[in-house]
Amino acid sequence: PETEKPEAGKERNCGGGGDHSRIMVFVRLRPMAKREREAGSRCCVRIANRRDVYLTEFGNENDYLRLKRLRGRHFAFDASFPDSATQQEVYSATTAELVEAVLQGRNGSVFCYGATGAGKTYTMLGTVENPGVMVLAIKDLFTKIRQRSCDGNHVVHLSYLEVYNETVRDLLSPGRPLILREDKQGIVAAGLTQYRAYSTDEPGNGTAFHGNQNRTTEPTRVNETSSRSHAILQVVVEYRVKDAAMNVVNRVGKLSLIDLAGSERALATDQRTLRSIEGANINRSLLALSSCINALVEGKRHIPYRNSKLTQLLKDSLGGSCNTVMIANISPSNLSFGETQNTLHWADRAKQIRAKACEVNEETLQVPESEADQAKLLLELQKEN
Ligand code: ADP
Ligand code: MG
Repeated sequence: PETEKPEAGKERNCGGGGDHSRIMVFVRLRPMAKREREAGSRCCVRIANRRDVYLTEFGNENDYLRLKRLRGRHFAFDASFPDSATQQEVYSATTAELVEAVLQGRNGSVFCYGATGAGKTYTMLGTVENPGVMVLAIKDLFTKIRQRSCDGNHVVHLSYLEVYNETVRDLLSPGRPLILREDKQGIVAAGLTQYRAYSTDEPGNGTAFHGNQNRTTEPTRVNETSSRSHAILQVVVEYRVKDAAMNVVNRVGKLSLIDLAGSERALATDQRTLRSIEGANINRSLLALSSCINALVEGKRHIPYRNSKLTQLLKDSLGGSCNTVMIANISPSNLSFGETQNTLHWADRAKQIRAKACEVNEETLQVPESEADQAKLLLELQKEN
C-alpha cells in the first residue's frame, strides 16, 4: 500500500501539539436535575470510552448494544464528557491548548452550543465555587505568562459583549448598543470596553461574573435568563518578541469564548428550512451561524458571515485561520430527547468543517541594521514595559 502523505496544513502545528486542521468537537453531558428526576425522567444518554455517545429513548441496557448499528443513535467526538467530568477536566481537554496558541500569536475560539438548560453557561462561566472555561482560561493564561521569562512584556485585555435580538451590547459597560465597524483588523464593535487585566487582580474572574449580570434576561420565561442572548468574552494578548532574523515583531493572539443562545428554536441543518424559519425572526444570529457552518462543511467559497451580528463578530474566529472548538451541551433526561438528538446531529456536522491552518498574527515593527541598533531597540522595549 501507498505510504500516507500528510494532509496540507496537518504538519503545521497550532500551539500545544494537537491537530487543529479541523474543528475540534466535544460533548458534555450534565447531571440529571432535581426537577427532571421529579418529573419521572429516565436517562437516555450513555457515554463510553470518553468518546462515544449513545442515545436511547428508554434507557434500556440492551438498547445500547443494538444502537451501535443504528444510524443517528451513535456518535463519536474528539472527547465526550460524562456527567462526572469536572470543570478543570473540561477546560484542560478543550481549551488549554488554545490558550497556549494564543500566547504564540494565534486566534482561537470555543463555542458552547445546546438547548436552554443543557449546561452552556455552567461550562463557560460556571459558579464561584466551580468556575468554568472563561475563568480557568484567564487564570491559566496568567500562569503561563508568569512561567515565561519575559513576563512584563505581555499586555492582556478583556472585553465581554452580548448579541441579543441583533443588538450588540457591552457587558462591561452597559449602555447604548454598539455599532459594528470594519477596520483593518476586521469587524470590531466601536467603543467596546477593553479592560486591561493583570495577573494580580484575581485574574479577571470578577470581570466575567460581573459582566454576566448585565446579560439580557428573557422576559417571557420565568427562571430562564439569557436563553436568547449570545455572550462573547474576548481575551487579547499582545507582546513583542525578536524573531529568528532578530527583527522585533508585535504578536497579537485573541481567544474568543462564546456562550451561545439556546439552540432549541434554530436547529435546522438544511438551507431551505433555515430560510423558512428565518422569516419568523427567530434568533437570526444562531441561524446565521448554522448557515456559515453548513457553507464551511460544503466547502462553499462564499461564507455568509454578513447575515448576522454574531457571525460578523466571529468572522475571524470561525473556519478561518483560527483554532476552533465546539462544546455541545446535553441533558441526560429523556424529556429532552429531541433537543439532545438535534444537538448531537449539529455537533456531528460541525466535525466535518476543515479549517485553514492557523496563522500567527505578527507585525514587524523594526528591522535592526546593526548590533548597536539591536541593543538600542532592546533597551526601548524594556523601557516600554
Ligand atoms: P444553559 O446555559 O445551557 O441554559 P445552564 O448552564 O444554566 O444551562 O445549566 C442549567 C442548570 O444545570 C444550572 O442550574 C446549572 O448550574 C446546572 N448544571 C449544568 N451543567 C452542570 C454540571 N456539569 N454539573 C452540575 N450542574 C450543572
Ligand atoms: Mg445560559
